[in-house]
Amino acid sequence: MTLKEKLKNEPEGLVARAYGLAQEAHAGQKRKTGEPYFNHPKAVGETLLEWQLDDASVAAGILHDVAEDTALGLTEIKSKFGEEISFLVDGVTKLGRIKYRGSEPDDTSKAENLRKMFLALSEDLRVVFIKLADRLHNMRTLQALPKEKQERIARETDEIYAPIAYRLGMQNLSGTLHDLAFPYLHPEEDKWLKKTVRDAYAEREKYLARLRPKLAAALKASGITPKAIDFRAKRYSSLYHKLQRYNMDISKIYDLVAMRIIVDTVQECYTVLGIIHHLWPPLPGRIKDYIAMPKPNGYRSLHTTVIGPDEKYVEIQVRTQKMHEENENGIAAHWLYEQNKRAGHSARSTWRRVLEDLKWVQQLRRWQEKYTDVNSEEFLQSMKVDFFKDRIFVITPKGDVIDLPYGATPVDFAYHIHSEVGDECVGARVNDEFVPLNHTLKSGDLVQILLQKSKHPSEDWLKFVKTSLAKDHIRTALREKDRRLRTSAPPTRVEIRIVAKRRMGLLKDISVAINQSHFSIASMNTVDQGNFPAIKVQCDTTDKKKIEKLVLKLKHLPDVREVSYQLV
Ligand code: MN
Repeated sequence: MTLKEKLKNEPEGLVARAYGLAQEAHAGQKRKTGEPYFNHPKAVGETLLEWQLDDASVAAGILHDVAEDTALGLTEIKSKFGEEISFLVDGVTKLGRIKYRGSEPDDTSKAENLRKMFLALSEDLRVVFIKLADRLHNMRTLQALPKEKQERIARETDEIYAPIAYRLGMQNLSGTLHDLAFPYLHPEEDKWLKKTVRDAYAEREKYLARLRPKLAAALKASGITPKAIDFRAKRYSSLYHKLQRYNMDISKIYDLVAMRIIVDTVQECYTVLGIIHHLWPPLPGRIKDYIAMPKPNGYRSLHTTVIGPDEKYVEIQVRTQKMHEENENGIAAHWLYEQNKRAGHSARSTWRRVLEDLKWVQQLRRWQEKYTDVNSEEFLQSMKVDFFKDRIFVITPKGDVIDLPYGATPVDFAYHIHSEVGDECVGARVNDEFVPLNHTLKSGDLVQILLQKSKHPSEDWLKFVKTSLAKDHIRTALREKDRRLRTSAPPTRVEIRIVAKRRMGLLKDISVAINQSHFSIASMNTVDQGNFPAIKVQCDTTDKKKIEKLVLKLKHLPDVREVSYQLV
């Protein structure tokens, strides 16, 4: 159903009401492209409808920019549309705060953190869908933005949004986002590729069109009527990455255009594979059974590469209709299915359920790692669903994401940034509000640390910090402070060092001399050095005149060679 039809069918429905309000709120606003702003939320709603999401998602998609970009606030959305819609809109706004600035060689973990945070933040999967639909339309209209912005958004799309879509099994969307980003990130390569590939694509399609009737006839002879036999051209962006591994030699890419057969049952998939291999010999090592062993993101299909007429390699994919839909739309299709099955359950509990279901993916991942016929790069890209239960993700004022343990405080955050920031922190603002340093941070919080030069950590901090990094730094800083206090304190004693020839009565003579000066002896040690021991005496005085008198007296004692002193 298109948005137009939806509005016509349910003129008083949730979607129609959201449409009316957003249209009004954005009235007069223009996008950078010059078109009315409302075109954007409308396109987002249209995409969500296409993904067959529920009315609440479509309505929230249409309203997603209202709270931030118009006079209408979230409160108003809540009062007009209720808790659910305002929760979704708010979620989309929160995700919008995350900004990714790549891409240095060490940014892999940064990107990974960001992706995790994205999922952790979005409590409800529908928030992710709306954000993805939002990004899809923004990418389609990216040409209107200034060059630096284009590049930043394209990179963020390529490194964050597209991989998230991939992990959620939305291959189609993931590929589209990569393709949309490609010309902005690799303009030269894009030109080269389009020129080079255009003819190759046309030639391949022509070739496959020749094979189709042969295949159809063979299937028919075995009593199989496929739902579809069609072709799919490899996407530019993935073709480019593959070409890099094959010395840019396009003749080595067998799946430039692949043939795709859609049948009714799993059983038929395998039967069809047999028929294909009977027609054309398979290339050894190229048969992939993603039905028995789905890809980590849930992708299922049979793949084979055969040697067709004129010794040309052809990749053929066989799958059922249901697999096809799930492959293309992934978790969205799964979500829809669960939601229908669990009518009456809240969408949020369904989202948890869907994630639970994806746990098997981890199992599979371990299993497939042993399976040699899988490209390992694909695995790195592929999904790793954990539930981030004991981690939170917070944002720095620059938009970087910091990964912290559950229960972490602004002090943990500060030490994560830098030990000096931790040592000198005196306060924090979270989402623009002042909070105490022992405040518990939540995923998605925007954290800003207030500093004061030459401030020192407090021992109290040890009671609430969660990271051992913070604990270590605080302890070190406290020890350091202690040492400084001790050494910078004014001296209270004198230490006198006397070197003398060893003899009977020497210590007694020294004691008597000191007593005559009315100093009390705090300690006396002898450092034995054979016949000339050094004697160290500490006395509770700092009176230099009296000390120097005493030193003179000591120097005149028999057999004393050397006397020196220092205040301590
Ligand atoms: Mn938007």
